[in-house]
Amino acid sequence: MVLSKTFSESDVSVHSTFASRYVRDSAPRFTMPENSMPKEAAFQIINDELMLDGNPRLNLASFVTTWMEPECDKLIMDSVNKNYVDMDEYPVTTELQNRCVNMIAHLFNAPLGDSDTAVGVGTVGSSEAIMLAGLAFKRKWQNKRKAEGKPYDKPNIVTGANVQVCWEKFARYFEVELKEVKVREGYYVMDPVKAVEMVDENTICVAAILGSTYNGEFEDVKLLNDLLVEKNRKTGWDTPIHVDAASGGFIAPFLYPDLEWDFRLPLVKSINVSGHKYGLVYAGIGWVIWRTKEDLPEELIFHINYLGADQPTFTLNFSKGSSQIIAQYYQLIRLGFEGYQNVMQNCHDNAMVLKEGLENTGRFSIASKDMGVPVVAFSLKDRSRHDEFEVSEMLRRFGWIVPAYPMPEGAKHVSVLRVVIREDFSRTLAERLVLDIVKVLAELDTLPPKNSGKSTSLEDGKKEKAEEAGREIASYWRNITKARKMKLAETQAGPSVTVIAK
Ligand SMILES: *Cc1c(COP(=O)(O)O)cnc(C)c1O
Repeated sequence: MVLSKTFSESDVSVHSTFASRYVRDSAPRFTMPENSMPKEAAFQIINDELMLDGNPRLNLASFVTTWMEPECDKLIMDSVNKNYVDMDEYPVTTELQNRCVNMIAHLFNAPLGDSDTAVGVGTVGSSEAIMLAGLAFKRKWQNKRKAEGKPYDKPNIVTGANVQVCWEKFARYFEVELKEVKVREGYYVMDPVKAVEMVDENTICVAAILGSTYNGEFEDVKLLNDLLVEKNRKTGWDTPIHVDAASGGFIAPFLYPDLEWDFRLPLVKSINVSGHKYGLVYAGIGWVIWRTKEDLPEELIFHINYLGADQPTFTLNFSKGSSQIIAQYYQLIRLGFEGYQNVMQNCHDNAMVLKEGLENTGRFSIASKDMGVPVVAFSLKDRSRHDEFEVSEMLRRFGWIVPAYPMPEGAKHVSVLRVVIREDFSRTLAERLVLDIVKVLAELDTLPPKNSGKSTSLEDGKKEKAEEAGREIASYWRNITKARKMKLAETQAGPSVTVIAK
């Protein structure tokens, strides 16, 4: 048994946290501390270390929502203690998720009659949604192959090399081969013609992306559908399409209502969207919608009795929070079609302001499209002296987090910087960012080239030196802490620090 420490008079008071001994020790990192600490001290220590994280609002790397209205923040905090899976206990929450599924299914033009309920489920994000959609395709394909007496052990998915990593995860976890169509310089999404050429009898689906992660571009789902209808007709297969609309699912219906990418196309059997991207909810919510009941094999559904009614569930996890579902419902009814349209239009307009600002510098070429998810992807026209990674690094000094990364297989020699325009990225911020980028360029022009002749060995030498310095500093602190601990043990030896372990 471990008895908690009794504190000497001066330790007990944390009215001034910074005068207490809790800030004198380094924070526990490997083993749980033996004794408790006052809540004020715990809060302060964690809060202060977190100050070193980036500012989410200036994190232009992410599609994920970083701002919601205070009223919704309140709903979220009020429901953080509700486990979503307790459907019997929280029937209203379940009802709200069902309403969201129906609203999103209608937004995606699912073929639903007036009294039909849509088939879909709320998930932790698009990744879980894609796992579920992929499993449904795999099972459907296997069932069909079994019935035909054909081998069913080599399923594959055809997709572009620009897929998000969750597809590679799905492929590895659920043993499906990923057949990727390479991209090429200047064309960074899946070419539908090549994709359809790659389809064979083992293809469980073709995955198209509405809003490529790399440059926000929409893939041509309509052309893919038409080519695949033709191929299916010739071969007798019925290869379906999944649309990964993680980022574009809440853009296209509002900005490009005439674009056919969704259930209006007959081969599109399921669609995922991230509620926490342009669905405008904080991290932790995604959706997957199936075209009809027939597209989700019954054997994958678990039926939960919910107030005497049947509540089908199909998720990978059991327990999860309810807040995100409630927050999604809030956004859908609070904003309505009109509100979402306004938000997305503002994002698009701000993306254009940023794009034009970058073009006006004369130094960048733009790799994103005006029509698509509001991101601006751009690369340096002249990379002979400096590259995108240096621009990214230097922008950090102004507080901006703008990632640089190489394009996917087929165009790996091209690197881009990418700015995601979210709801909370205002015109003023867009203009400021351009000004700061201009400053960075001016400074880079005065610096020696990154890739000049000897620089590699110079860089290596620098790295080694830095590592050595790091090791020295670490051992210095270790020694100091050790010495301090010993001293503390000496001076405080006595009943006040004795921990009795039995
Ligand atoms: C973000 C994204 C995902 C993953 O979605 P999460 O909601 O983060 O799990 C998948 N596909 C695309 C195209 C994405 O942009």
